[in-house]
Amino acid sequence: MADDRFHVYDTTLRDGAQQEGLNLTVVDKLAVARHLDALGVGFIEGGWPGANPKDTEFFRRAQTELDLKHAQLAAFGATRRAGMKAADDPLVAALRESGAPVVTLVAKSHDRHVELALRTTLQENLAMIRDTVSHLRAEGQRVFLDAEHFFDGYKSNPDYALEVLRTAAEAGASVIALCDTNGGMLPDELAEVVHAAVGTSARIGIHCHDDTGCAVANSLAAVKAGATHVQGCANGYGERSGNANLFTVVANLQLKRGFDLVPKEALADMTRIAHAITEVTNVTPNSHAPYVGVSAFAHKAGLHASAIKVDPNLYQHIDPAEVGNDMRMLVSDMAGRASVELKGRELGYELAPDTSRELVNRVKEMEAKGYTFEAADASFELLLRDTVAGESRRHFQVESWRVIVERARGGEVVSEATVKLHAKGERIVATGEGNGPVNALDRAVRLGLERLYPELAGVELIDFKVRILEGAHGTDAVTRVLITSSDAAGEWSTVGVDENIIEASWQALEQAVTYGLLRAGHTA
Ligand SMILES: [Zn+2]
Repeated sequence: MADDRFHVYDTTLRDGAQQEGLNLTVVDKLAVARHLDALGVGFIEGGWPGANPKDTEFFRRAQTELDLKHAQLAAFGATRRAGMKAADDPLVAALRESGAPVVTLVAKSHDRHVELALRTTLQENLAMIRDTVSHLRAEGQRVFLDAEHFFDGYKSNPDYALEVLRTAAEAGASVIALCDTNGGMLPDELAEVVHAAVGTSARIGIHCHDDTGCAVANSLAAVKAGATHVQGCANGYGERSGNANLFTVVANLQLKRGFDLVPKEALADMTRIAHAITEVTNVTPNSHAPYVGVSAFAHKAGLHASAIKVDPNLYQHIDPAEVGNDMRMLVSDMAGRASVELKGRELGYELAPDTSRELVNRVKEMEAKGYTFEAADASFELLLRDTVAGESRRHFQVESWRVIVERARGGEVVSEATVKLHAKGERIVATGEGNGPVNALDRAVRLGLERLYPELAGVELIDFKVRILEGAHGTDAVTRVLITSSDAAGEWSTVGVDENIIEASWQALEQAVTYGLLRAGHTA
């Protein structure tokens, strides 16, 4: 188990799950918990047993199905209801019976919220906190308190807000997390309030939302002011603008402030873990995410490229390997030979001067037609391979393709595609149906090739972007299609350009499949 000097507390499964469009099954929650444990967080808040049947089941299954190496599970719940004993409150019983070693109780610390939302007296609220904390402590659980709306409450009535902290600490709560529930705080004023709270009670924690874009900065400011427990969510998930991104917080504290929060090897696996969690949540990863985004260490080639070649550290704030990310060169129309060589080396090719000159010319030519390789690494690598190998060597050849789009009788629009391919000495004719022409083509290609290349079953088309590029110098407008695909190990993007959107899509699709086969270890 993680040592107790500083707490990294994850609330993805409870607060993060409030994100619009994010829906986790019990199996998803168990999977996310395993990933978080692999990162080495100290606490994983699993949800609200008793209030939510799915969360009750999560805690039940966690007891037998989760084998946590680092983390302890925390069950979230409220203090007892007004006017009854904690021991008699069925919701408190659900926390007791969750099997979680830690219970995090949410309590009101804002006087107006006590009166208006809870509709009880300030004294009864304190009694509810005292009674519930001491009851659960007596039953053998560790108790943390989430002081809800603490910062706004402190503005409204600082004496009462601090009284809430003291009451919880005296009753035996070992952590009091100060919550910026509405997310409106800025680092300087937040730090002042944290400072006032430190010393009044038990260990002080911080729980920030990102409504001012300061959740991470606020968390760091709180730590500086004395908090030794920090809460956040994987990838910054959460309602509204999200919670503090726990990955950013951990990386900042560990790499910039010298905290020893998670094992070094685990931190070096953070990029993979962040992406693995997006697979479970099915939320498109933010490519600009600090530390773990695919663009986090991506440099526009050109001007800087020759200097980066000499010393990459001149152009990055940390060594990306420390968080399991990679420096990446973007190949753009500023591309010079240096950046193409660098990119080639990054992909594992040592390019001869002639080859890199030829490649630069081909990139420039294609970019003039509307291609972009900045967002299509896989297309660039295929182009590079073609240039190095002298000619295109592919896993399959295309004889022809055809798509029919039909508005059927009921008004439903359906697409049907037929592809004719040659692979491994066979001629393949395959037909696929889909909700759109590209979907139908994708199905037809897979159907045709899956028997020869079963790994294609693990390749998925996850994003499809279309952009119309204005014609220049009297030419017609063209369509650029970017396709992002994934397999179990990661993602790649390919690009196609044509006046016809289906042809542009086809180019990107054909490369996506080819690249997927290369990743699966097939040489053409
Ligand atoms: Zn929250």
